[in-house]
Amino acid sequence: MPAGVLALQGDFEAHILTLRRLGIDAVPVRTAGELAAVDALVLPGGESTTMLKLAGEEGLLEPLRGTIADGRPVLATCAGVVLLAREVEPRQRSLGLLDVAVLRNAYGRQIASAVVPLRVAPALGEPPAMEGVFIRAPRITRTGAGVEVLAWRDEDPVLVRQGTILAATFHPELTDDLRVHRLFAASL
Ligand code: GLN
Repeated sequence: MPAGVLALQGDFEAHILTLRRLGIDAVPVRTAGELAAVDALVLPGGESTTMLKLAGEEGLLEPLRGTIADGRPVLATCAGVVLLAREVEPRQRSLGLLDVAVLRNAYGRQIASAVVPLRVAPALGEPPAMEGVFIRAPRITRTGAGVEVLAWRDEDPVLVRQGTILAATFHPELTDDLRVHRLFAASL
């Protein structure tokens, strides 16, 4: 089965293109039926409040929760991390499956969006640095015991892994460094 990219809103096309560059069959997911037909899922960046609303209207929230809780591999970026986080500030509904707390829009407004050098863990391979594109990104303010940090912006965790969930507060689909998607693909 292909990998799916939640395509309700946001930059889902960039993820589809990145996965295809790695030779992975990637398709958009907009319904519970389409969700049931994929092996792995990307939750893209965008606007988490809008995505929540659209997913709710489509009856997708429970299927998403079930699919991810069952251990289907997930790559979440930016707004996708907000959707998965256990705690969201300012308070907002979420799937609550990733044991982190996030503060939305914590690195400043759209105008403060930036490309920032990151430090990455050996699990990502060489080099030990990576460029991270941050667009009104959430900041991870707490990580639970089962959460491994794989990249940092200064001292902040920006790429974390918890079981089959890989979550980046930046946008690896917007640079030519394919290592985050490759790590996700390794779980397929
Ligand atoms: N600010 C957005 C949110 O909290 C995330 C931004 C993004 O995905 N680029 O939903």
